[in-house]
Amino acid sequence: MLYESTRGKYLSITSAEAIKAGIAPDGGLFVPATRPGIDLEKLHKMTSMNYNERAFVVLQHFLTDYSDDEIKDCINNAYNMDKFDSPEIAPVKELSQGIYTLELWHGPTCAFKDMALQILPHLLTRAASKTGEKSEIVILVATSGDTGKAALEGFKDVPGTRIVVFYPQEGVSEIQKLQMITQEGKNVNVIAVDGNFDDTQTGVKEIFGDQGINRELQTNGYRFSSANSINWGRLVPQIVYYFSAYFDLLSQGKIERGEAINFVVPTGNFGNILAGYYARAMGLPIHKLVCAANENNVLTEFIRTGIYDRNRAFKRTISPSMDILISSNLERLLYEITEHNAEAVNEWMETLKEKGWYEVEPGIRDAIDNIFWSEYATDRETMQTIKDTFNQHNYLMDTHTAVGKNVYDKYVLATQDKTKTVIVSTASPFKFNASVARAVLKEEEIAGKSEFELLDVLAQASGIAIPEGLKNLDQKPLLHTDTVPKEEMPGAVKEGLGL
Ligand SMILES: *Cc1c(COP(=O)(O)O)cnc(C)c1O
Repeated sequence: MLYESTRGKYLSITSAEAIKAGIAPDGGLFVPATRPGIDLEKLHKMTSMNYNERAFVVLQHFLTDYSDDEIKDCINNAYNMDKFDSPEIAPVKELSQGIYTLELWHGPTCAFKDMALQILPHLLTRAASKTGEKSEIVILVATSGDTGKAALEGFKDVPGTRIVVFYPQEGVSEIQKLQMITQEGKNVNVIAVDGNFDDTQTGVKEIFGDQGINRELQTNGYRFSSANSINWGRLVPQIVYYFSAYFDLLSQGKIERGEAINFVVPTGNFGNILAGYYARAMGLPIHKLVCAANENNVLTEFIRTGIYDRNRAFKRTISPSMDILISSNLERLLYEITEHNAEAVNEWMETLKEKGWYEVEPGIRDAIDNIFWSEYATDRETMQTIKDTFNQHNYLMDTHTAVGKNVYDKYVLATQDKTKTVIVSTASPFKFNASVARAVLKEEEIAGKSEFELLDVLAQASGIAIPEGLKNLDQKPLLHTDTVPKEEMPGAVKEGLGL
């Protein structure tokens, strides 16, 4: 299978080349040039497979230039009990009859980004050797909190790679920040940016497109790549867990063969839910993909009206990993929905850049409406959902997952759709414990306690153990304490590489 750019000005390339490059040179994102399908026979064999075997079936479809052994090696290096604290890797839990959660946070950093970022370094280093790359790969990351730590954990001390992570000074939780600034590893740099996530992401995109700095890196034996969800190597491992959840339900007799189900996805950059779209396009029986947003509800508005408008105040919410006004991966959906109309995609993206908004035609809006449904949750609603879910189902949710649950409830109310549904759970409740504790505990139980003391309180109240990756964070040395204004991000990269 070959890959092409959503902006249409770049030749088709192999998956190894697409993964190595991250973003296409014409500013677009790489997508499969042809639609991948899985035939039904092959599909249903997945019922009796474990996570890694299912991953092999899915990845084999997309990474046709990797050998079977290469794919298996990548999978087994990523998804194992050294890295994940659940043998199922991505377990499905029953919340109530016909409603399930898919827990994507059993990896080292306790959020769903691990699902892709544990395997990406392996896909990427193999991509480099397969394409005869001599330069050292420099991973440049803009993070709203979870990607940064997950990328650092994935890439630390991986030979032939360096990693530079930028995070917004305003907008990551205390625990997320500590996870990053205490990061060990000889090849890592972590830098705060004086701004929000969109500033940070724009800064990183500008560095990727900056000819000068790219040339300078090249002469010094480096080349940039991306671990952000714009990299195809981030997206493709995410397709796996949609299959895995479906076949877990099937093997447990919760659904019938061929029965369609819904997925509800807490969404920010549109990477997770887009993987669900590809799973559906491949033939997995998915009825609706419910896009759950927080108060930064550009996507909800887009799915409902066909107008994407980022001209609005950026809001900081209690689900910070979804505080995003420019959802990069939407570009891939537009390309797919328009049957690969690069010209149209170019026009929308240019208009977005110039005016901050664009509108798609009614036909395209309808095509999106056919597959997706969207609503958003306020912080107050999110808190109430955490509390209600804990009280009614004895299930503790993080703030992002609770946005999903809240939006799902609204979906059922609006549509009366009784289709069995999987709510994608994107973070451990311990990762955003301050909000979770406030939602489920009494004021006197939490008053005056630090986020770290709250971990213990929450563990006691819920009877769940504190995940390994979040223990003793407050006792680790702070190794990365620099903050730079947005304009100085290129300089900070060079400094980090010793140029
Ligand atoms: C990144 C993240 C999201 C949003 O995922 P996208 O792929 O950017 O849409 C949701 N929840 C958590 C906990 C995350 O880390």
